[in-house]
Amino acid sequence: ESEDRYRALFEESHDAIYFTRSDGSFVEVNPAALRMFGYTKDELLRGRAQQLYVNAEDRRRFREEIERTGFVRNFRVRLRAKDGRELDCVLSSMVRHGAAGEVLGYQGIIHDVSARTESELKLRDYEHFTRTIVSSIHQGVIVYDQELRYQLFNRFMEEITGMRSEQVIGRRATDVFPHLVENGVDALLQRALAGETVQSPDVPYSIPATGRAGWTSALYSPHVSPEGEIIGVVAIVMDTTERKRAEDQLTYNAFHDALTGLPNRALFVDRLERLMRHTKRHTDYVFGVAFLDLDRFKLVNDSLGHLAGDELLIAIGRRLQECVRLGDTVARLGGDEFALLLDNVPDATDATAVAERILASLVEPFIADKHEVYITASIGIALSSTGYEIPEEILRDADTAMYRAKLEGRSRYEVFDRQMHERAVHVLQVDTDLRRAIDRNEFMLHYQPIIDLKRGRITGFEALIRWQHPQRGIVPPAEFIPVAEENGLIIPIGWWVLEEAARQVTAWNERFSPQQPLTMAVNLSPKQFLQGDLLDQLDAILDRTGIDPALLRLEITESVVIRNEQRVAATLDALRGRGIQLCIDDFGTGYSSLSYLHAFPIDTLKIDRSFVGQIGFTGNNAGLVETIVALSRNLGMAAVAEGVETAEQLSFLREVGPQYAQGYFFSAALAAGEIEEMLARDPVW
Ligand code: C2E
Ligand code: CA
Ligand code: CA
Repeated sequence: ESEDRYRALFEESHDAIYFTRSDGSFVEVNPAALRMFGYTKDELLRGRAQQLYVNAEDRRRFREEIERTGFVRNFRVRLRAKDGRELDCVLSSMVRHGAAGEVLGYQGIIHDVSARTESELKLRDYEHFTRTIVSSIHQGVIVYDQELRYQLFNRFMEEITGMRSEQVIGRRATDVFPHLVENGVDALLQRALAGETVQSPDVPYSIPATGRAGWTSALYSPHVSPEGEIIGVVAIVMDTTERKRAEDQLTYNAFHDALTGLPNRALFVDRLERLMRHTKRHTDYVFGVAFLDLDRFKLVNDSLGHLAGDELLIAIGRRLQECVRLGDTVARLGGDEFALLLDNVPDATDATAVAERILASLVEPFIADKHEVYITASIGIALSSTGYEIPEEILRDADTAMYRAKLEGRSRYEVFDRQMHERAVHVLQVDTDLRRAIDRNEFMLHYQPIIDLKRGRITGFEALIRWQHPQRGIVPPAEFIPVAEENGLIIPIGWWVLEEAARQVTAWNERFSPQQPLTMAVNLSPKQFLQGDLLDQLDAILDRTGIDPALLRLEITESVVIRNEQRVAATLDALRGRGIQLCIDDFGTGYSSLSYLHAFPIDTLKIDRSFVGQIGFTGNNAGLVETIVALSRNLGMAAVAEGVETAEQLSFLREVGPQYAQGYFFSAALAAGEIEEMLARDPVW
C-alpha cells in the first residue's frame, strides 16, 4: 500500500524526482523530470546527473556537501535542458543506502524556479521600467507634491503644454498654468490632496508655438506613501480632443438646422427662455420675437424643385443675418418659417426697423438653381413688454401677428397687440363651434333678390349663408367663412349651400311659375372650386335636386381664374358644358390683368359694391362702374351691380345700363319665408 502511495507521488509530482547510482548515472526518473529537461526516459537513463549541470563548480560543491553531510537541501543550481535552455533550480538530495548500510547512490527532487527568478529580475529593473512607461505612454502623468508643485511631468505633458519638464518641476501648477484656476482644476487638486479621486471636466489647451490645440481631462488621485500618508497628488491626463469634438458636433447638430446652419427651434427657444429670465430681473429690458413666413414659397418648391427651394432657403437665411444686429438670433424653425430674436428693443420701432430692413432686403431677387426668384415674406412681431411667462406664448403671438400680416396682403409686417390676441382666440372659438355646426344643422340660407333693371322685376336670387349660433344668434358669413376656408370646412358647407339653394329655387319655380324662371346664384369658395371631385359632387346635386343647370349661376372670384391653370380652364369648360352660368364676383377688386376674361367662358361680371357705393360721390371710382359695364358689353357678358343702396345709385345705373342689380335698396337677403311673401306680391321697381 505504501509502495503504491509513493509511486503515485512519484508519478504525479510537478517537481523532478530521480534516483542515481554513486557515479551519477540515473536509475529512475519521474515524468516531471522528463518534462523539465525535455529528454526521453531512455535518453536520461543512459546519461548521468552531472551532464545536466551548467557549471562544473556547482556539481563539485554538491558532491562535497552531500559526501560531508549525507544530504543537501535547497541547493541553488543552474541546470541545462536538452534544447539548451538554462533552468534555475532548487535541488534537494540525499544519499541512498543499501540494506547493509553501503552507499547505493543518491535520490533527489528538483524544483524549477526559473519563472520566479524572471519576475524577481523585473522587480530589480522596476524603476527603469516605470520610467520607460511613464515617458512613452500616450497619456499625461503628473506627480505633485503636497504644495502642488510638479515632481514629475512626463513627455506627453511636455507635448501638450509645450513646456519642458525642467521648466516646471518644483513650481506650483497654478503658477505655471494660470488657466487651471479658472477651469476649476485648482479646486480639484485640493480635493485630491484631501484624499478624494476626482475627474476634471474637459480643459482646453493650445500651444501657439506648434499650433496644437485641443482638450484634456484628468483623473486626480491622492499620492499615498507606503506608510499610508498622502504625500501629494498623482494625475493621469488624457487627450479628449477627439471625444470632445464628436460631442460638440452632436450638440451642434442638435441645436442647428442642417440645411441653413442657423440655430433651430430648440436653440431658439433656449435663448428665448434665457432672455425671458433676464426680463424678470431687469424690468426695463425689452426684447422682440419676429416670426417670418415666406409668401408662396411652395410655388418655388413646386415649380423649380426642392434643390432650388433649398438654395433659396439658405440664401434667405444669409440675408436675414445681414439684417439683424450682432446679439440677435436668426433661427429656422422649419419649412419656410424663420424666427428672429431681437435683443434689447426698448421701442417698438427698433423692432419694426428690423422688419423693414428685411422686407427691403428681399426686394432684390435671389438666384436659385440659375433662376431669378422673387420672394416676399410676412412678418409678425411680438414684444416682451406685453408680459409673457413662457416662450410659447410670445412665439404664438408673433405667429398670430404674422398671420395677420398675411391676411393684410402679405409682404408686410404686423406688431402684435391685445386686439389681435382677442381675434386669435375668437378664431379658435369659431373653429371649434363651426365643426359642431354642420352636425347640428345650424346653417340656413338667406336669399337676396337680383333685379332685372329693364323689367324692374326679380330675376333670381343670391344664396347667402347664415349661421344660427346657439348662443350668439345669427353670425354673419364674414366672421366664419374665412375660418372655414382656412380649416377646410368650407367644402362640406359649400356643398350643403349648393344643394339647399338648388332645391329652393326649383321649388319656387314650381310654386310661383313666374314668366321667366328664377335663377339662383351660389358663391363657390376657391377651395371648393379646386376640389378634385367638384364635377362629381355637382352632378350628384343636379341629379338630386332636378334643377335646370341653366338657372344655376356659380359666383367665383378672380383669384380662382387668375391661376390660369389647365385644370381651371378644363373645369370651367365642363361647367359651361352642363349649361351652368359663371359669374366673376367682386369684379374689379382683384387683379389688373383682364386677359383671363377672353380665355374663359364667363357669363356675368358682378361689379363690386365698393364701386357702386362711390356713385353720387365725387371721385373717380364711380367712373369704374361705367367702364366695367362697357367692358362686359364688349365681351358679350352681362353685368350685375351689387350693393345698390340708394335711389340715386339706381338712377345712375339705369343710365349706365348694367342688366342686373341687387342691394339693400331693393331688399336685403331674407329668409325663405319672407322671400315667398315677396314673390307672391311680385313687386316692381
Ligand atoms: P358676396 O358674395 O359679395 O355677397 C354679398 C354681400 O353683400 C352679402 O353679405 C350681402 O348681404 C351684402 N349686401 C347685399 N346688399 C348690400 C348692400 O346694399 N350694401 C351692403 N353694404 N352690403 C350688401 P353677406 O351675406 O354677409 O356675405 C358676405 C360674404 O360672405 C359674401 O360676399 C360671400 O363672399 C361670402 N358668402 C356668403 N355666403 C356664402 C356661401 O354660401 N358660400 C361661400 N363660399 N361664401 C359665402
Ligand atoms: Ca357673391
Ligand atoms: Ca360680391
